[in-house]
Amino acid sequence: MTQFSNADDQEITKFDKVSQIWWDTKGEMGTLHTINPLRTKFIMDNIDTPNPRILDVGCGGGILSEALAKAGARVTGSDLSLPSLEVARLHASAGGLKIDYLYQGVEQIAQENEGGFDAVTCMEMLEHVPEPAKVIAACAQALKPGGRAFFSTINRTLKSLFAVILVGENILRLLPRGTHTYSKLIRPSELKAWSKQSGLDFVRLSSLMYNPLTGKFKVAHDKEDMNYMAYFIKSKNQ
Ligand code: SAH
Repeated sequence: MTQFSNADDQEITKFDKVSQIWWDTKGEMGTLHTINPLRTKFIMDNIDTPNPRILDVGCGGGILSEALAKAGARVTGSDLSLPSLEVARLHASAGGLKIDYLYQGVEQIAQENEGGFDAVTCMEMLEHVPEPAKVIAACAQALKPGGRAFFSTINRTLKSLFAVILVGENILRLLPRGTHTYSKLIRPSELKAWSKQSGLDFVRLSSLMYNPLTGKFKVAHDKEDMNYMAYFIKSKNQ
């Protein structure tokens, strides 16, 4: 049993095992590198505070945390895969980036830093936890009123089962095999409902569309497809 209440040991172990390939842009984590500029832009374009304080929940090897830091944010990354965090720490210091990496559950970080962040990012992570609604509530708690929450995940549709899990993981190897479990994928309506319960007002949802012929992704704004990201604002009257 993990020492963290809202974490699945098997999920964390999966990421422990791939911790050495986070920064291999040509390897099975390559997709995260390919989509990174698109999601970084979606995030930074929608934060109105200069040099925002950002909490990156489920930061893995720090692919997004580093891009946010390079874009001027003051970043705290958190994850429960210790080997991944070690890779993140080494990679940031080798690149001269100052990022605070914490081996702590988001629930604890939120309790200790209530209202402490201008934005929280939680990308490709919610589909790996037992109770995603609790992670969302903690993200909301960590935000200052008017702060922004960014979530990305994979839609639970037959199209995703086919394209992401069967083809993406098992045939094209765009992701490590076994990364996703169909039943844990999340529909946009569920993400929106959980966010609303936590006092987060929905603003925009966009999808990342993959072109298998070019191997490139592009953003389709206001479209619900397989691989989507959304942002919310914490109500000021909380
Ligand atoms: N957000 C990063 C990595 C996504 S992979 C990116 O998009 O580049 C999912 C990450 O979530 C893994 O690093 C895994 O260890 C982490 N994770 C899974 N369950 C978690 C939990 N309960 N709390 C914190 N991190 C978790």
